[in-house]
Amino acid sequence: MNELTCPACATPSQYNFSDYILFCPFCSASFRVEIENGRKTVYNDHFIIPNTIDAVRLKEHVTEWLKRLHHRPGMAEKEFVILDIRGTSVPYWIVSLEAHTAWKGLVQRNRRPTDVMPGGEYLHETGTFRRAYRWAVNGRNNICENWGMARLHEPKEPMTVLWDGFPLDSTYSRGRLTPDAPNEKTAYERREFFEFKFANGLPIQGCQVSEEEALRRARAHIESYHVNLAQMHADFLLDCRHELDIAGVQLIHMPFWHATYAYRPANFLRHFYRTVEKHVIIEGINGGILKGELGIIHRDKVQINAVATGGAAIFFFLLGSVWTPIFFLVALFFAAVSGLSAYIAIIKLEERKRHVNHVTPDASAAQAKARELYG
Ligand SMILES: [Zn+2]
Repeated sequence: MNELTCPACATPSQYNFSDYILFCPFCSASFRVEIENGRKTVYNDHFIIPNTIDAVRLKEHVTEWLKRLHHRPGMAEKEFVILDIRGTSVPYWIVSLEAHTAWKGLVQRNRRPTDVMPGGEYLHETGTFRRAYRWAVNGRNNICENWGMARLHEPKEPMTVLWDGFPLDSTYSRGRLTPDAPNEKTAYERREFFEFKFANGLPIQGCQVSEEEALRRARAHIESYHVNLAQMHADFLLDCRHELDIAGVQLIHMPFWHATYAYRPANFLRHFYRTVEKHVIIEGINGGILKGELGIIHRDKVQINAVATGGAAIFFFLLGSVWTPIFFLVALFFAAVSGLSAYIAIIKLEERKRHVNHVTPDASAAQAKARELYG
């Protein structure tokens, strides 16, 4: 920590020089300092989205979310325990831009042509698309220090996200438990010029990433995303070019809440269930669930049941062998219940696998259309 006077209000205070931008705790001015010569430059494009949630409301939101997931909503409050709730205001670089992508690739024909040249069943295809974003890049060096923040982008298209940035508008508005009010302001529109008071009690995290790095990263994220989008149009993508028109960059502090919860069955199964902490991440405007780990599901319960009754079967079998054979019958009963539970658990697992396969990435829709046109 080093002492500096604020360039706006001239009050001396302690600052951490490893931060890229410093915020005066007295007047909320944001500024940069050149360490070699001590020159300070005020940074004006710093905003904050006010936090409007407190721990009590947050707990209600998480409980409501858990109720909706539970197969018996009335049991949710008995079976889930919220262990910890924490809020923080995280700096994000918001890059407003329009991205243009042009691609070239090969698409398979529907019918094989009569003159079978090598590769003749493929057609050359080209296309362009453009999208506008307010792309958010985390201003912290360690994107994993806050649970769930490393992969917040959930595109509509089925693909694996390998980047940490995300489009602000579609991301920060998802997961709401109540529908949006008409003409409601977006998170971006709610931003205010940065002042500590708008955090409403949340700790403000410092910005460690430079603007140049944020721009470079936003470019890399969008290019990866757009290559994935282009790949959906062609069987073999040959070329993909991107042009990014950057309209502006702003630093915005955004409110996030993190809750941990645990599942504890209300019936006898609690003795067989190892408590596992699960996490939920919530935005601080409307309490939308941005990301949440699911608690125990019905299949897990059936699995626990299979193990518990299996154990009982062994116990009564041993009792039968050392005491009286009547316990063999009890053992047989538990073995039957255990076997049935295991069977149900396996069926449910298969169902889930099928569901997952159903949404794996494929280009079939675009390819079918292309084949229709050119096949
Ligand atoms: Zn100041």
